[in-house]
Amino acid sequence: METNSSLLKVSGLSRAYGTVQAVDGLSFEVQPGEILGLVGPNGAGKTTSLRTIAGVLPIQSGEIQVVGRDLVEDPIGAKSLLAWVPDEPQPDENLTVLEHLEFTAGIYGIGDWGETAHELLARFDLTAKADALGGELSRGMRQKLAFAQAWLTRPRVLLMDEPLSGLDPLGIRAAKAEILQMAAEGAAIVLSSHLLKLIEELADRLLILDAGRAVFTGTLEEARASDLADSGGSLEEIFLAATGARPVED
Ligand code: ATP
Repeated sequence: METNSSLLKVSGLSRAYGTVQAVDGLSFEVQPGEILGLVGPNGAGKTTSLRTIAGVLPIQSGEIQVVGRDLVEDPIGAKSLLAWVPDEPQPDENLTVLEHLEFTAGIYGIGDWGETAHELLARFDLTAKADALGGELSRGMRQKLAFAQAWLTRPRVLLMDEPLSGLDPLGIRAAKAEILQMAAEGAAIVLSSHLLKLIEELADRLLILDAGRAVFTGTLEEARASDLADSGGSLEEIFLAATGARPVED
């Protein structure tokens, strides 16, 4: 269902790197409280799409609206309502964990950030690292810091690119609960991952991307009811059918 209440609206998004068409006419919407699972083979255009929506890459063609604010016409307004957890967060090696949160609060104009920041450090198991420098963090800790920075801004639209890679089992459990809670509070979430079990567990709707194009958009139930489910019905089978891949024979 796509209505005007969408918090994120992407229309006809295209992006090329030289002669490589990374994203090709991509359109989709995400409603409040919805988690959209973005899946696709390596090179399908997932990260390029997310980086463009986050405003990290300039839009070559197409339109992006965040809570009705056009990313080109009102970039600050749009970005102030959006947060982005990249697949490989690169914290500033000279700032401490707490200073990263202070920095984020400054950019987003959050005045009274201290108490929330400490609460988030506890929720993401970073309290002991509050004074550690960005360059001293393990991969999983960098991921947790990116979560805490995103959560501090209370985004209406949240983009996450392989957010659980690098997290330990306890961190994965906590992160999943936090993502579900964020959606329950009304955020629109786009979650990109190769972990199909994670997508099955968390996503309300699927967007399967292949060669920069949406080859399926809908719920898992809708995918199972479509031609894609002929070969079985698991998300893995649906993914392989939608992207033209052949399952490996045992
Ligand atoms: P993966 O699952 O491997 O992370 P992805 O779906 O996120 O892949 P992208 O990283 O968006 O895919 O890449 C889409 C296409 O754009 C690929 O063909 C890739 O080679 C190309 N591409 C991505 N970044 C660049 C770049 N900086 N310069 C040139 N080509 C790029």
